Amino acid sequence: MSGLRQFDVIVVGAGFAGLYMLHKLREAGFQAHVVEAGSGVGGTWYWNRYPGARCDVPSIEYSYSFSSELENEWRWSERYAAQPEILTYLEYVADRFDLKKDITFDTKVTAAVWDDAMKLWRVDTDQGNGYLSQHLILATGALSAPKTPELPGIENFKGAILHTAKWDARVDIEGKAVALFGTGSSGIQVTPPLAQKASQLTVFQRTPNFAVPANNRPLNEDEWRQSRATLPARREAARQGFLGFFDVPRAGAAKDDTPDKREQRFNEQWNAGTAGLLLAYEDLLVDEESNAHAAEFARRKIAETIDDPDKVRKITPQGYPLGSRRMCSEIGFYETINRTNVALVDVREEPVTGFSAYGIRTTDHHYSAEVVVFATGFDACVGAIKAIDIRGLEGKSLREEWADGPHAYLGLAVPAFPNLFTITGPGSPSVLSNVVVSIEQHVEWIARCLTDMRASGKATIEATEEAERDWMDHVHEIAQQTLFPRADSWYHGRTRDGRKVFMPYVGGCGPYRATCDEIAAADYRGFNLG
Ligand code: NAP
Repeated sequence: MSGLRQFDVIVVGAGFAGLYMLHKLREAGFQAHVVEAGSGVGGTWYWNRYPGARCDVPSIEYSYSFSSELENEWRWSERYAAQPEILTYLEYVADRFDLKKDITFDTKVTAAVWDDAMKLWRVDTDQGNGYLSQHLILATGALSAPKTPELPGIENFKGAILHTAKWDARVDIEGKAVALFGTGSSGIQVTPPLAQKASQLTVFQRTPNFAVPANNRPLNEDEWRQSRATLPARREAARQGFLGFFDVPRAGAAKDDTPDKREQRFNEQWNAGTAGLLLAYEDLLVDEESNAHAAEFARRKIAETIDDPDKVRKITPQGYPLGSRRMCSEIGFYETINRTNVALVDVREEPVTGFSAYGIRTTDHHYSAEVVVFATGFDACVGAIKAIDIRGLEGKSLREEWADGPHAYLGLAVPAFPNLFTITGPGSPSVLSNVVVSIEQHVEWIARCLTDMRASGKATIEATEEAERDWMDHVHEIAQQTLFPRADSWYHGRTRDGRKVFMPYVGGCGPYRATCDEIAAADYRGFNLG
């Protein structure tokens, strides 16, 4: 196998997860190398450069906690940082910890094959260069494989086509007729800047989402100083808490309060950010009746911002509990929908039937469009992993193993794929948590595992089928105790015959962390070490 560079660990991806993984492995004395498809660090924050892109988790929480020096050096400018600031932060982290010298950029990992005789992964890339490594860590991100719908006749369209997750800033939108598909977090963020520049914006919506005011603001000196004083305690509370956030739900059940008290509390929480309304009562994600009160409140608030009754009817979310699909936060989205140069098309009542050279045909109309923007999301949790042809023991393909819905022990490891780890993989809190908290936990657990293996002279680690089955049953059972399965959402994967498989673990970040630690302390129960 000449020409292949050999490392202890290959990490795929240089976003939040890959950068910290590299730093942690280096600290522990491993020879580690990162392979990254982009030309720079940042992962999702490298690619998602659409106008309006902004994190909807408060900046102070959506940042690394592993280095107090880093925490003291970096000053966030806004409550919710915009994409350029987050990317600058990640570049700063990469430089500060001198990480770039161990990252190969502009290189996509295409395949990884386990060689059981050598106990090594052979990793291939689209640049022809390859690697051998004892361990392979997928820091590929849960929301990183963009999805574009197959729309009839799109090949006839002669204008520019953009995707929010692969934004090309060279495409000029000024004064153009623009069509936007998708009203998830990305679509809701990109709508106002598009409408400001476009002559006409047509928003093609399939499922309306609940969006609450972001209430973004600059972080003033007082707020910043105060946040420093309480940071260590709040970080620890987030690690041990349910969703990995600083704020926790308020006690009580919505259905038990009087209408006046409920209204008051919902109003207090309405401007408290993305998860604010959901935190109004502790039972909103588990009790249908309580949730219905919150959903009704949100519907009323949304209706207040739009004049046209037809737009209100189309944009009002119905038929699923509040929070069972990812909550969105908005800065001027509903106001923009209200504008006269913005049309709202419900593709369920008016399906797309074709494209002309500069327009989109539906069953009812032809809408002019010189630019089409897809904000149509991602092949969530699994897309970036399935994009790599991964072969484990006896040539087993991970893609095929997951064709009936993804499964992994603790969201970290899959039987028959030794020495392979997935950071924030399916079956871990991942996308249903403050993902930076979950990333740090996985990175630290994996580093500990590799260090323990080295100390005890073990060359391989593999999850057992029984442990994985029990874990996925647990993931499923816990999800059934919540309202999440009541919605169609990207939190679900699909089996071959179309059944839904809930992917994230909703048992809470703190309990999940305790389980992982306890398993490590019990000689990695549920894993075979060889
Ligand atoms: P998304 O939530 O999956 O939204 C995709 C949108 O495209 C949905 O509205 C979907 O409708 C729609 N769609 C798909 N196919 C369509 C079609 N043929 N016609 C019309 N509409 C179609 O994706 P996203 O907005 O990129 O967000 C994904 C996740 O990334 C978020 O939930 C969040 O976790 C994260 N994110 C966070 C931020 C932030 O921090 N602010 C920003 C962006 C993204 P259906 O719902 O009917 O499928």
